[in-house]
Parts: sequence; C-alpha cells; structure tokens
Amino acid sequence: MKNIKLLIPRTDKLYVNWALTNQCNYSCRYCHEDLNSGNIKEPNEGKVLYFLEKLIVISKKKNKILYVEFGGGEVSLYRSFHSVIKTIHQNNGLVTIVSNGSKRISWWEENTKYLSGVSLSYHIEDIKSESHFIEVSKVLEASRTRASA
Ligand code: SF4
Repeated sequence: MKNIKLLIPRTDKLYVNWALTNQCNYSCRYCHEDLNSGNIKEPNEGKVLYFLEKLIVISKKKNKILYVEFGGGEVSLYRSFHSVIKTIHQNNGLVTIVSNGSKRISWWEENTKYLSGVSLSYHIEDIKSESHFIEVSKVLEASRTRASA
C-alpha cells in the first residue's frame, strides 16, 4: 500500500464531460438507445444553471478554467442550451460540443460565439441534408470555433 501515489493532473482546466440529454432527432442504427431514445428526463434549466454555478465557483477557487464538453444525444436539442453555454462563456469558461449539425443555420450563427470547439458527426444514413451539413461547416469555419468532422 505504501507504493500507491496520488496522481494530481497538471492542468489549468477543470474538465467536465456532460451528457445533458439522450434525445436525438436521428436514429442511427449503430447508436445505442441509451443515447437517442429520450427516455431519461432532462434536467430543467434551473437545476442545470445551479450546478453550473457550483462548477464555476469551484473552478475559480482552484484557479482553473472551466471546460465543459457537452454530448448526448443531440445536445443542441436541449431547450435551454443557449443560456447554458452563454453562462459558461460569460464566466470565461470553454464549451465544446458533439453535434450532428442538424440545427438551423441561424442557430449556429447565434451560438458559435459561445463555442470553442465543435465535433460535427456525419451520419450517412440519417442525415437530412448534406448541403445543410456543409453550410453549418462553413459557419463554423468562418467563426473562430474549432470544428472537426
Ligand atoms: S446522431 Fe449521434 S446520438 Fe443521434 S442517433 Fe446518431 S449516433 Fe446516436
């Protein structure tokens, strides 16, 4: 037991990986239903913001940057997502998301300023519009958001 050591990560960030919803507007056959069935009740905005506030306080106390990676499901479907990512951004935190890119172009134009990274996932069987996916990529490319697909 004497050889067990505590590993303290040397990072200036407090990383949080948050699966906020298991709702999705696609139903890719290779996706597990736990990720897209919507059978888990989403937390309401108040609860999410309350928890975020706690994370913000802890990160500030520890002198770290809050870095939240949101996934799902399709996290952009979460009704209050705009205020969630805006809150993190306003508190100097970083937000990255994994998304199928299906939200309307105006949604991306409105929200990319709060995102520091987007992993766009392309689903060949379920994608509604390839041209829309390309348009979303262009919006991200034109912004300062780091995108990967
Ligand atoms: S888009 Fe992603 S979360 Fe949605 S069904 Fe496909 S693999 Fe699952």
